[in-house]
Amino acid sequence: MVSRRKLLKSLSLLPLAGTVLGTEWLHGQSMTKEVLEATASRNFFKELGIRTFINAAGTYTSMTGSLMPEEVTQAITYGASEYVNLDELHDRVGERIAELLDCEYATVTSGAFGAMTIGLAGVISGMDEDKVAQLPDTTGLKNEVILQESHNIVYTHALKNVGVKIITVKTAKELKKAINPKTAMLWFLNANTDEGEIKHEEFIEMGKTFGIPTFIDCAADVPPVENLFKFTKMGFDLVAFSGGKGLRGPQSAGLLLGNKELILAARQHTPPRGHTIGRGMKVNKEEVLGMLVALELYLQKDHHKEWEMWESQIKLISDSAKSVKGVDTEIHTPKYANHVPSLKVRWDQDRVKITPNEARKKLKDGHPSIETVGNDKEIGITTWMMTPGQERLVAQRLKEVLSTS
Ligand SMILES: *Cc1c(COP(=O)(O)O)cnc(C)c1O
Repeated sequence: MVSRRKLLKSLSLLPLAGTVLGTEWLHGQSMTKEVLEATASRNFFKELGIRTFINAAGTYTSMTGSLMPEEVTQAITYGASEYVNLDELHDRVGERIAELLDCEYATVTSGAFGAMTIGLAGVISGMDEDKVAQLPDTTGLKNEVILQESHNIVYTHALKNVGVKIITVKTAKELKKAINPKTAMLWFLNANTDEGEIKHEEFIEMGKTFGIPTFIDCAADVPPVENLFKFTKMGFDLVAFSGGKGLRGPQSAGLLLGNKELILAARQHTPPRGHTIGRGMKVNKEEVLGMLVALELYLQKDHHKEWEMWESQIKLISDSAKSVKGVDTEIHTPKYANHVPSLKVRWDQDRVKITPNEARKKLKDGHPSIETVGNDKEIGITTWMMTPGQERLVAQRLKEVLSTS
C-alpha cells in the first residue's frame, strides 16, 4: 500500500500539481498544455509501486490480457471527448462489425464472458420486457443449458449467472435424450473440441432439429482470422470472442456475433436499461470504438508475416535455451485456442540444478521481469503478446537463468 503521506509527497513533486488539484480543474476548465504534458509523462505504475513485465506467457486476465495498438488507444481517447446516444452507438457499431465479419448481426460485449451471459439471457427472454426484468429468476421460463461434460469449464458460470441449470452429456444420444421443453440453449466450447465426442456440425444439427439456439465460445480462438467468419457461417446462432486476447482490443470488451433477433434480445439486458442482469456489464463508447478499431486493424493485418515473425522469435528463444547443456525444447502450436507458435522448455534436473518453478520465479523477479507459464516439469513461452525485440531479452535471460544454476 502506498501511504497517504508518500502519495501526497509524490503529488507535490509533480509539475504544476497545484493546477491539477486546484480550482481551475475543479471548475471543469480545460487543463493547460503543461499539465497535460506532465500527465503524459507520468509513470503511473512506478508511482503505484507496481512492476511491469515482459509477457512471455500469453493472454491472461491476471496479467491484464494484451497490449492495445496505438490506433486503438486513439479511438478510445476520441470516444472519451464527446457524448453520443449509447444505444445508437451500439446499433451502428454492431451493423459495421456484422458487415466486416459478413454475419447477420453483432454487438460489442463486456468480454466473451459477458457475451455468454447476455446472449443466453436474450435467448430466454426474447424481446419480452417482463421476462427481461424477471431474470435471473427463471420460474416459468426455459432454464436449462446443455453442454458436453468435457466442455464444462469455469467460465460456464457466465451461463449460471442467468439463473439456469447446466446439464452435461457425453454422447449425441445422451444429448438428444436431455433435450426437453425446459431446454433454452446448447453451448459448445471450441477450445475443447477434441475432448468432446460431439463435434461442431452434429451439435448445430441437433439444435436445428429441435429448434434450440446453439452458442459457441471462441474466446481465445483468434488467430486464425478465419475463425471470425467460420462459426457463424457453419450455423451457430451465437458466437463469442474475447476482445482483449488475440484481437488486441480493450481487455474488458468482447464480440457477440450471429442471429440478429437473438442479439437484439441480448441487448435488452444491457445498459442503459437498468432492470437487467447485464446492467453491470456496461460497454461505453470508449471501449465500443476501441473494439471496432482493433477489429479493423486485425482484419487488415498481414497474418502470414506475423506468423513467420512469431516462428522466428520462438526459434530464437528455443535455440538460446538449448545452448545450455541438458536443456531440451519443444516447439508446438495448440490446435484450438491460443493457436500460436509456442515453446516448452524442459531439462535434466541432475545437470541443470533448478526446478522449472524456481526458474520461472527467477525470470519474474529479475531485470527485466519476465512472466512465463509452466508447471513442475517445464516452462511454457509464447511471443505473441510481446513487443517485437523483447524476444531477445527473453532468450538471453532464459539462458542466464538456466546456465548459472
Ligand atoms: C478468456 C476466456 C473466456 C473469458 O473471456 P473474457 O473476454 O475475458 O470475458 C471465456 N471462455 C474461454 C474459453 C476463455 O478462454
